[in-house]
Amino acid sequence: MSKLLQKLTRLHKSHKDLINIMPLQTGGILSDAAREALIEFGDGYSVCDFCLGSLCNIANPPVRGFVHELLPEFLGCEVATLTYGARDAMFMVMHSLAEPGDSIIVDANRHYTTIVAAERVGLNVFEVPHSDYPEFRIDVNDYVPFIEKHNPKLILLTYPDGNHGNLADATRLGEIAQEYDVPYVLNGAYSVGRMPVKMNDIGADFLVGSGHKSMASAGPCGVLGMKRKWEGAVLRKSKIYSNKEIELLGCTVRGVPLITLMASFPCVKERVNYWDKQVAKAQWFSGELEKLGFKQLGEKPHRHDLLHIETPMFYDISKHVRERGYFLYEELKHRGIWGPQPGITKALKLSSFAADEEQLAFVIDSFKTILSKYSSYKVAQRWGKEQAA
Ligand SMILES: *Cc1c(COP(=O)(O)O)cnc(C)c1O
Repeated sequence: MSKLLQKLTRLHKSHKDLINIMPLQTGGILSDAAREALIEFGDGYSVCDFCLGSLCNIANPPVRGFVHELLPEFLGCEVATLTYGARDAMFMVMHSLAEPGDSIIVDANRHYTTIVAAERVGLNVFEVPHSDYPEFRIDVNDYVPFIEKHNPKLILLTYPDGNHGNLADATRLGEIAQEYDVPYVLNGAYSVGRMPVKMNDIGADFLVGSGHKSMASAGPCGVLGMKRKWEGAVLRKSKIYSNKEIELLGCTVRGVPLITLMASFPCVKERVNYWDKQVAKAQWFSGELEKLGFKQLGEKPHRHDLLHIETPMFYDISKHVRERGYFLYEELKHRGIWGPQPGITKALKLSSFAADEEQLAFVIDSFKTILSKYSSYKVAQRWGKEQAA
């Protein structure tokens, strides 16, 4: 066997059992039940034993009950389905409601996948601007002139955005969408499964969630909720295979992505009830980081666990040490902390969602220790020594 092939048989994760504050990962950590189900259903097509031709109608394991009862209740919608991820859900809706050359309106904080999905459909995208540095707020009233000017096929709001964790006034945008009778897509990749989000309360037509981002699933998978009136358009069936949805290419997530999504769901359903505590924890963490001299970007007071923190002192250090930006990654890994992207020091995206207060206090303490270890005096000294050597 070649060395590379051998490597494939001995894969391991580099950050196992560390304190995880990486925003991409904190909401996707599996529940114990999901970890067990992962092994049980690891084989290919293992959920399809009792399939009668439609994934969402499989009774054993109980996909049907999950998709047709539990998910609609959880999302506050009339119809729900499974997707490969948040991006696929956005694509499906765009592809079903718009034609190439049509226009859509999105917020300037949109995820890149929103744009790529629109490109795949061939749409013109207009962006409602944000308030710029440092808060990057979206005022949803600014959608109005865009809607009047461009006559969009749909409007989309990112809730919250994946860069700053800002939560724009989604409910107000629901009123605007109703007033102008334009379909409204809420991208909840970072909210569905973390915090309570009900599509009908907000007045959206579609609600998008990400299984691996925020619903404790191995993924890749997602969920899409919608009003009943869109079912015919988005979940239209093949003319030849009458139980196969065209946008889903027959059926979507099978096996581990789906089974972990289902096995974690009771935990996820429960954890959104403690969102107030999560917000309090995030605000405390952000405050402690600011006491160290860092600056939190995005809305203040912050209402989400995703925090974008400017850390100019770490950046200064990176300019003077041999490891460059990787010094921070090395220092944190050494202390059992997994979070900032290796090499990055100017501004860090962190999430307080999965760590408890004690662990976050340890993170703060570690930052403090690292800052003093590399305080300018010592850096200068080391720098001098290295130059001399
Ligand atoms: C992560 C993310 C996505 C993409 O989610 P997938 O489920 O991986 O497609 C889309 N939008 C936002 C705001 C995100 O943060």
